[in-house]
Amino acid sequence: MKTETITLAGDVPGNSIELRVLRFEGRNEMAVAAYLQSSLHGSELPGQAALHFLIPMLEKAEKEGRVAGNITVVPQANPIGSAQWLAHHHLGRFEFFSNVNFNRSFPLLETFDTAALPAIDAPKSLAERLKAQLLRLALPHEIVLDLHCDDESESYLYVHKAFLPEMYDLASALGSTAILSWDSTADAAFEEACTHPVLQLPEAQRKARAVTTVEFRGLNDVDIETGKSDAEGLYRFLVHRGVISDSSVELKVDFNGPVTPLENVEMIRAPQGGMILFHADIGDEVEAGAKLVTVVTIPGDPGGDITLTAPQAGRILTRRSHRYTRRGDDLMKLLGTKRSDNARPGSLEA
Ligand SMILES: [Zn+2]
Repeated sequence: MKTETITLAGDVPGNSIELRVLRFEGRNEMAVAAYLQSSLHGSELPGQAALHFLIPMLEKAEKEGRVAGNITVVPQANPIGSAQWLAHHHLGRFEFFSNVNFNRSFPLLETFDTAALPAIDAPKSLAERLKAQLLRLALPHEIVLDLHCDDESESYLYVHKAFLPEMYDLASALGSTAILSWDSTADAAFEEACTHPVLQLPEAQRKARAVTTVEFRGLNDVDIETGKSDAEGLYRFLVHRGVISDSSVELKVDFNGPVTPLENVEMIRAPQGGMILFHADIGDEVEAGAKLVTVVTIPGDPGGDITLTAPQAGRILTRRSHRYTRRGDDLMKLLGTKRSDNARPGSLEA
């Protein structure tokens, strides 16, 4: 394993960030290469836990001469977001200076040529230079796994329709509950930026590739057992795709969960602010009209309660981890089987 430290100068004198990049060199030029990163949203740690346990497995494979394709791992992809604390709270989703989500507004390239991306010392903000740098690192790999997590959530994947059904292997390896499929835009998330040049390739060449945002459950699902099991899932997938050789590992592709287009996801949003009382938990299958959540707008007065019900039958995939909401904020994701009346283009969340 080779460790490279990429330093990006800050936007004002006297500060900088360091990106730690781990590289495993493949022995077989024909094997596909894989890129894995976690914590693009600062404090999303389930993916970082998985990589923490995966890296020693990769080192062992390397020592035994079993790494076939190049593997690049960036366990902490966003040192800016990782360092954003305010009043004792970590806030790693939006950049403090611009309020732009760290996983939006990546440059969309037509080809894999990254020459047009801002250079590391370009007269651009640190966040823009970091995004360009992450793309430069990721694009030479056929497999790109961006490891995130949701609030309270089942394990699921975002996958562009061009990679389906081939990517059922990843869902099987990780034990994902569901796949959210998309084919328009994801507001230039990292996944979309890595997918964009692939879409310009002939279809036959796309199928060998895999680009995804892995949502490894919820923010608090960070523990030794889960981390190890997720590392084993990632390893199984890498073996299955021929990035690593390991005859002791076999993957049964048996994913049979829902593949839900984004427009079929019911985003349950708060009509007013207040206290959140959930009626349904993640993993629940609910009927149309079932009670999902009550927002208490006048504590002590049931007359102020607003109870939201399921717009259609489906499965509760996620819900918020906090219990206090603002008007208009997202509360839950429900996987429906038909288009949501509230469907809108772009990513599901801000
Ligand atoms: Zn995220």
